[in-house]
Amino acid sequence: MSNKNSNRVYKDESYFKPEKCPLCESEEIIKWGFRYNCTTKKRRYKCNSCKKLFVVDDGFSKCKKKREMITACLDLYMNGMSLRKVATHVNQFSDKEVSHMSILRWIRRYVMTIKPFTNSLNLNLSGVYHADEIYIKCNKEQHYLFDLIDKETRFLVATHYAKEKGLDGAKGLFRKTRQRAEKPLCVYTDGLQAYVNVVSDTWYSNKNPRKKGIEHIRIIDRHDYRNNMIERIQGTIRERVKVMRGFKNPKSAEQILEMFVIWYNFLRVHQGIGMTPAQKAGIELKLGKDKWLNLVYRSKIQA
Ligand SMILES: [Zn+2]
Repeated sequence: MSNKNSNRVYKDESYFKPEKCPLCESEEIIKWGFRYNCTTKKRRYKCNSCKKLFVVDDGFSKCKKKREMITACLDLYMNGMSLRKVATHVNQFSDKEVSHMSILRWIRRYVMTIKPFTNSLNLNLSGVYHADEIYIKCNKEQHYLFDLIDKETRFLVATHYAKEKGLDGAKGLFRKTRQRAEKPLCVYTDGLQAYVNVVSDTWYSNKNPRKKGIEHIRIIDRHDYRNNMIERIQGTIRERVKVMRGFKNPKSAEQILEMFVIWYNFLRVHQGIGMTPAQKAGIELKLGKDKWLNLVYRSKIQA
């Protein structure tokens, strides 16, 4: 080891204790020193059953960049900066170069980590939903993001990415809503033809005959005062997605928008309600100061 390395102060980044060996699932594990990389050290364990050494994967295993930097990039991007601007910004403070492509890869990776966890949480919603669609520019084509928000909690219950503003998009949105939340009391939509039968069809069953129980209000007149309410509720989403416009391919657009949904529901304090939509919907994650880091850890523990 060179002189330079031995003087380095390593920050201990071990947050979790494993309960069993990830390879053979034996519970006979003991501490076995540390594993070091360029900036941090992590507790290493040895399995007495299969004799292998391992380190707990806390969501940041095999990352070359510091976890704080990764989460800072995610946060800056979600708050409205472009990928290239985020890269330029963090490169001013770091000796290690970050490219805008790395940030895109991190978004993809952490969507896969966080999404299964956030989707497993139970929601306490008001049951009055607002559905809308936003135009998305992707590879010079016009695509759409269908989204559905719960009125009281502002929780973004479901989104659906569609290449056309037609029946498939509306169906996709309500199918996802049905998977995630209970049957609504009332659904507000705009005058889009695709919505006409979708609401009653989605929750149709022999026990609940068509068009009974769910009130569906289509707001056709632009000057209808209830339209303002939809516009206000949809405002944040429109504002942010507008800046994101200009995606390169539908797959990455979809993943970025999924990350946006996580940020919107669980991390961003909604000014209208003074807390995050998730808190309003009865989910208290206690994420503390480093919200992104703790959300990744929580998702990893629960996995
Ligand atoms: Zn083992």
